[in-house]
Amino acid sequence: MEQNVLITGASRGIGAAAARRFGALGWNVALGCHSGRDRAEELARELEALGRRTLVVQGDLADPEQARGMVEQAEAELGPLDALVCCAGVALPQQLITDTTDEQWRQVMGVDLDGVFYTLRAAVPFFVRRKRGAVVTVSSMWGVTGGSCEVAYSAAKAGVIGLTRALAKELGPSNIRVNCVAPGVIDTEMNAHLSRADLDALGEETPLGRIGTPEEAAAAICFLASDQASFITGQVLLADGGMVI
Ligand code: NAP
Repeated sequence: MEQNVLITGASRGIGAAAARRFGALGWNVALGCHSGRDRAEELARELEALGRRTLVVQGDLADPEQARGMVEQAEAELGPLDALVCCAGVALPQQLITDTTDEQWRQVMGVDLDGVFYTLRAAVPFFVRRKRGAVVTVSSMWGVTGGSCEVAYSAAKAGVIGLTRALAKELGPSNIRVNCVAPGVIDTEMNAHLSRADLDALGEETPLGRIGTPEEAAAAICFLASDQASFITGQVLLADGGMVI
């Protein structure tokens, strides 16, 4: 039977790697994007060459109506969703709380936490009606431990973990699983502002001795969305090379 997944933030980084992995596993994929429509369309063509059905859904997840529109378009045009991956996110440069402006705080909370809430609020009724489905949110190890000079990002990502656990309890009786992947340092454009030396230093701090790849974070996402995780809900899976032990 065909399976359909909507992945937000699928135009690049971890979300794009997850789209490739779902596609390789036979899933049809709705690729969420904001400014990177061209890249999402290129990835869609790549997946279609494998025989998958795809759809590009574009919008700003910090806007509740746009988030709802993306979910409803995916349901209507790709087909009933079996899984939803909330991967879109933004980060700020490391900075003191006293240097963090209201606008920066709102930007991070708007995409990283409100966006997850808006997406799920729109998607949950479809899953509940069918009494099945899997949700994977994407937090961060900083949402677990708190990152120094990353107050807004850490708060938003901790919020994602709280939301995930609460929703797992709310939706368990409807046979819907809700889990979270919390990556460590992953080599994507989100970290493009860091120098090679900074990335190497972060790798050295990591018990496995290196930073992670988008594919490694994507593997954790696909596992939690799959039937292999059929008795797992409300969990936070750290894909962080052992940074948080
Ligand atoms: P990335 O390469 O910067 O990609 C971010 C994605 O989010 C892009 O697809 C972008 O879409 C989308 N996005 C940004 N703002 C959006 C908005 N307002 N509305 C809709 N989509 C929006 O980041 P990444 O490293 O792959 O990160 C993916 C997730 O993992 C994020 O939630 C991030 O916080 C988390 N994470 C990353 C790391 C890391 O080290 N990389 C570590 C821990 C957690 P467009 O390109 O189309 O604008």
